[in-house]
Amino acid sequence: MRDDRAVETEATELLRTMIRNACVNDGSAESGQEVRTVDALEDYFAGSGLSCERYAPEPGRTSLITRIEGRDRRAPTLLLMGHTDVVPANPEGWSRDPFGAELEDGIVWGRGAIDMLNITATMAVATRRLATSGFRPRGTLVYLAVSDEEALGTHGAAYLTEREPEAVRADYVITENGGVPIPTPSGPKLPLTVGEKGVNWRRLVVRGTPGHGSMPFKTDNALLTAAEVVKRIAAYQPRARVDEIWKRYVEGLELGPKLTADLTDPGRVLEAAASMENLAFARVAHACTHTTFSPNLARAGSKINIVPDRVEIEVDIRSLPDVTPDEVDAMLAEALGDLRSRVGIESPCRDQGSLSSPDTPLGDALARVTADLMPGSRIVPRISTGATDARYFRWKGVPSYGFALHSTRIPHHEYPLMFHGNDERVDVESLRLSTLLWEAVCRDFLG
Ligand SMILES: [Zn+2]
Repeated sequence: MRDDRAVETEATELLRTMIRNACVNDGSAESGQEVRTVDALEDYFAGSGLSCERYAPEPGRTSLITRIEGRDRRAPTLLLMGHTDVVPANPEGWSRDPFGAELEDGIVWGRGAIDMLNITATMAVATRRLATSGFRPRGTLVYLAVSDEEALGTHGAAYLTEREPEAVRADYVITENGGVPIPTPSGPKLPLTVGEKGVNWRRLVVRGTPGHGSMPFKTDNALLTAAEVVKRIAAYQPRARVDEIWKRYVEGLELGPKLTADLTDPGRVLEAAASMENLAFARVAHACTHTTFSPNLARAGSKINIVPDRVEIEVDIRSLPDVTPDEVDAMLAEALGDLRSRVGIESPCRDQGSLSSPDTPLGDALARVTADLMPGSRIVPRISTGATDARYFRWKGVPSYGFALHSTRIPHHEYPLMFHGNDERVDVESLRLSTLLWEAVCRDFLG
């Protein structure tokens, strides 16, 4: 127990340091400056026998790798990956300083507390503890503190997997996020993220003919065409697809036979989501069974007395893991109908989703270890609607999971609000549990 307390304190203090470092990534190449947290990690690992490598494709956009080399070349390599950057925070919406890392009543407040400095910090603490305990496993453990996750990973995971493949070579990856217990009649269920939807951003350029705003009769106003385009996209509803992962997730939640049957039937899931009182879960149910289209940005016109001849509409499309970018284009064409010929389509991002099987030796090890750390709990697989660095590894066929282990102190339904939201926070027991999880899974899986 005394050892547990030490784990908790160590993880808490490292997390607070990372929050205070405020490696805020606003998408510009010079933001982030993750080197601050890399420096802190190198200080933290000092004296443990671990040696650190640094990778920086741009000044300050540094990632750090340290490893415990395995004894057996045939045994698997496990990569524990945490990002060190965070998204901006507007202090006005917060009840604490977002970068103050205040610790009060066992709760750490700050940007990154759950996305995902909690995991980055606890993985580092577990790695250091394993190293100093003389852990000499069969398999290899690689710890990666990666930069730039919050802006598509260009200077972080994308760079490393493309340009430094040997440094990040692994057979399995664990990263964000999962493991927030959901209460069910038979005990807590721990979501294990095994895949994510594809990011397909499309820019629709609608053309018209300019004219004088004082004589609009029968003009070719691009804004009016664009309004119809937006309406059609909003009304478009691709057919639902129910995959094995969604089925297992819903069944794991033990929602009763009627709702379970409705939510896992492609013909009924939309109606079931529409009539659900729990709007947060309705959105999850819809997003996990449909490719979704959200028109989120529009630019139109140049002056109040000119009939506009050009409108740009940006649509955030998230495709189910098995839907290709070409299929997304076909869906968009179907949505636009006879207006398709009036619209030019550009693709700022066309990434397919990614999916790993939950049934792997690592999945089994996680199940064993969590059953021990949280008696009565069971793991349920799910897909994430947002993108993480895991996709770069899944695309290469490396099974990659989003996981951690949280206490029940902060209810599970509060978590979705905290990602990129206000009052992001984590309880210190969750930090202890996650540290013990990483340590135990390395001992179990890498032996
Ligand atoms: Zn994240």
